[in-house]
Amino acid sequence: MPRFDDIYAEGFKDTPYWWEGAEPETNLDPLPEHADVVVVGSGYAGLNAATHMARAGRSVVVLDSDRLGSGCSTRSGGMVSSGQKLVVGGAIKGIDPALISRLIGESNESFDYLKTLIETENLDAGLKITGRFFGAHAKGDFETLKNHGALLSEKTGVSVHFLDRDRQREAIGSDYYNGGMLIDDYGGLHPGLYHKALRERAKAAGAILRSHARAGIITDGPNGKKVVPTARGTIHATHVIVATNGYTSADATPELARRLVPVKSYQIATEPLPPDLLAELIPLARMVSDTRRDLIFTRPSPDGTRLIFGSRPGIFEMSERQAAKRLYARMLAIWPQLAGVKLTHSWIGSVAMTVDKLAHIGERDGSHFAVGCNGNGVALMTYLGYQTARKILGEQNMPSAFDRKKFTAVPFYNGKPWFLPVFTGWYRFRDFLDRPGR
Ligand SMILES: Cc1cc2nc3c(=O)[nH]c(=O)nc-3n(C[C@H](O)[C@H](O)[C@H](O)COP(=O)(O)OP(=O)(O)OC[C@H]3O[C@@H](n4cnc5c(N)ncnc54)[C@H](O)[C@@H]3O)c2cc1C
Repeated sequence: MPRFDDIYAEGFKDTPYWWEGAEPETNLDPLPEHADVVVVGSGYAGLNAATHMARAGRSVVVLDSDRLGSGCSTRSGGMVSSGQKLVVGGAIKGIDPALISRLIGESNESFDYLKTLIETENLDAGLKITGRFFGAHAKGDFETLKNHGALLSEKTGVSVHFLDRDRQREAIGSDYYNGGMLIDDYGGLHPGLYHKALRERAKAAGAILRSHARAGIITDGPNGKKVVPTARGTIHATHVIVATNGYTSADATPELARRLVPVKSYQIATEPLPPDLLAELIPLARMVSDTRRDLIFTRPSPDGTRLIFGSRPGIFEMSERQAAKRLYARMLAIWPQLAGVKLTHSWIGSVAMTVDKLAHIGERDGSHFAVGCNGNGVALMTYLGYQTARKILGEQNMPSAFDRKKFTAVPFYNGKPWFLPVFTGWYRFRDFLDRPGR
């Protein structure tokens, strides 16, 4: 394999490309001593819960251990879809059919909720519904995609097309895949701008946002209040919402940490490309992913200047610079046209996986929580933040389908995922068996 030592553009950064459009925010103002609601975690889930509570007249404080928005929400691929992970991701296997249809229904609702939110509140989030191509990695995967597509169309009402190998260049400037599936209804947004818009919206609603205020273990205080110790003082609150997803840790919320496995995901951004080249790589600026277990996810930047490419680069965790080389090799396997192009950014984010592959909202240790995106949370975690706030406010007619009593802890696990290399290695090995040499 070539060594790819000369791939870093001048000024290369190991921070998200999205931060060029909107950086996470620092706010070191003092914390209040009392609030109706403390939200732990300033991602999409936390901010949206905060806005809804504040608009209902509650005093709300959002805390983040780092800068506001420095978690997964400004590190993602920004792709948006409905029900896709649920229907084809294996999460619904073995679940009661009535619950399945409610989960799929709410997953569809989360996508509609996101689109309506952005449109009606005029959020500058760069949302474009350009479609998404799913490439068939192994030969047999084209047939699998056909089954998945039929299921998605039936369960979620999306418009699906299939392109065999001879026609796939209509969707992607590559002969790498064994055909693929195109869904018109999916798209993408700018994760950094969307987060900034949610921050501004939460502040306008009256919520107080504070960075560098890591919450510790929450305890019960006098008068039924919760005591939230933080790195910058203690807050007494009526309600606490924990929205820490892939950054959940045992030293703050041990019970949740035993149920969430943080998995790192990596992305790179190329330098600006000639417009003709980008249009050749991905016609009509669609989103692209594939059928590998260790899948790739890639897209043009919302301004149409460069390619953003994501995947897991290996079995073990590695630095942004090391990961960049591995991702570059994967990118060139699909688009050899990119040989010689330099990279301007490489970054890492942490998602939270759960045993049942489903996100969860609920209550544990007296705190509410919305966690467990399983790699798909731009729409869903925004929505689950909203549902958590509605639950506290008593606005729901019925509980969310994601609000289930059963939330299984990972056996022999206390928040440190020692077993991840084994699983990742197994997935990669099976991808290799499906398509040796790639
Ligand atoms: C590389 C990558 C690509 C992705 N691509 C997509 C995609 O294309 N489409 C999609 O739908 N999803 C995607 N995702 C997933 C998506 O980004 C997440 O589901 C979503 O952003 C989660 O939002 P959140 O609010 O739940 O958590 P986060 O945004 O991760 O926020 C959690 C916050 O909690 C804070 N925190 C943790 N512990 C404490 C504490 N004790 N005290 C105070 N603060 C604390 C953290 O600092 C963090 O800021 C991707 C994720 C990654 C990493």
